Amino acid sequence: MIDAMTGARLGSFGPGSRLGILGGGQLGRMIALAAADYGIACHVFAPEEDSPAFDVCAARTIADYRDEAALAGFAAAVDVVTLEFENVPVESLVFLEAHVPVRPGAKALAVAQDRLSEKSLARSLGAMTAEFAAVNDRASLDTAIARIGLPAVLKTTRLGYDGKGQAKIMAQGDVARALAEMNGQPAILEAFVPFEREISVIAARGSDGHFAAFDVTENEHHDHILHRSVAPADLPEALVARAVDATRAIATALDYVGVLAVEFFVIDGDVLVNEIAPRVHNSGHWTSEGAETSQFHQHVRAVCGLTLGSAKARGQATMLNLVGDEANHWEKLLAEPGSHLHLYGKGTPRPGRKMGHITRITPRA
Ligand code: AMP
Repeated sequence: MIDAMTGARLGSFGPGSRLGILGGGQLGRMIALAAADYGIACHVFAPEEDSPAFDVCAARTIADYRDEAALAGFAAAVDVVTLEFENVPVESLVFLEAHVPVRPGAKALAVAQDRLSEKSLARSLGAMTAEFAAVNDRASLDTAIARIGLPAVLKTTRLGYDGKGQAKIMAQGDVARALAEMNGQPAILEAFVPFEREISVIAARGSDGHFAAFDVTENEHHDHILHRSVAPADLPEALVARAVDATRAIATALDYVGVLAVEFFVIDGDVLVNEIAPRVHNSGHWTSEGAETSQFHQHVRAVCGLTLGSAKARGQATMLNLVGDEANHWEKLLAEPGSHLHLYGKGTPRPGRKMGHITRITPRA
């Protein structure tokens, strides 16, 4: 929207603006680095003193996400707020929204935080998902198993990531253990999908509704943690279109502004929505060198109300995560022609901790 008096874009924040980021992990770090390319300084709000994003931001607030005095001070210090971590309490976003634009907003976050809501939304938009049912206790779990069958996966509806809060149920003998693993939290039972591949669509929606998707990415996990992403995924065009269309429909329904990721299972010539991430995504890291605009630059453009960039790929891309000790080989990777090394500045390489990644871009056949 253009202001008729001044000609300026309303709700747009260009060079000299301050972008607030909720969350201080590597995603926030890479958003802040991209924002700096546009002369936009970042203020990171995170509870952990050793947050990787603090190394590269102009200002920081170290406080709990529910600390309203700290949130008010943060809102007063920035022009627009985004997030890099989807488990920020929705109430904190609602509080911030009374003071400053928040993109994506509380509505999108509320849906993406809840596996039942995100799968219900996908279904309501005509996308496919695994069969699922809400589970609160043994009786509802038994009813769900009777309808969905086994094997199945029981997951907490909220706060799950990298396979945490999940239990596979192969046979009746696993039911009590799986339920105990939910620790009394609301859960969702999903049919186990013997998928052929896992893919994700990383896309941006601007404040003007403009939508741009990157090439569909194929993802391989080790121990529930993303190991490798390859783009473009080797998929029939019809499936690519179905996944991108579902992502566009989800982004539109959520009034989404920013980059989002939708993860899908590919099975029997179809795509099933598994999860919506309301943020830049690990499986989109290849875009830093592999696309004309990286997902981080695209996110900054979207949330700051600037024109989206081209999402066109620059070749065939591979991204490899460096998890735990794998980052100790950084010197070898640094010396490798064609490898682009990204380290997150985290201190100790604990098992399962994402320490960095590399991307490799080759010409397309
Ligand atoms: P999520 O936290 O839902 O992304 O799940 C993490 C990983 O667990 C996925 O990337 C899959 O590899 C696997 N997974 C999750 N749900 C299912 C399912 N319903 N069927 C088969 N595998 C699943």
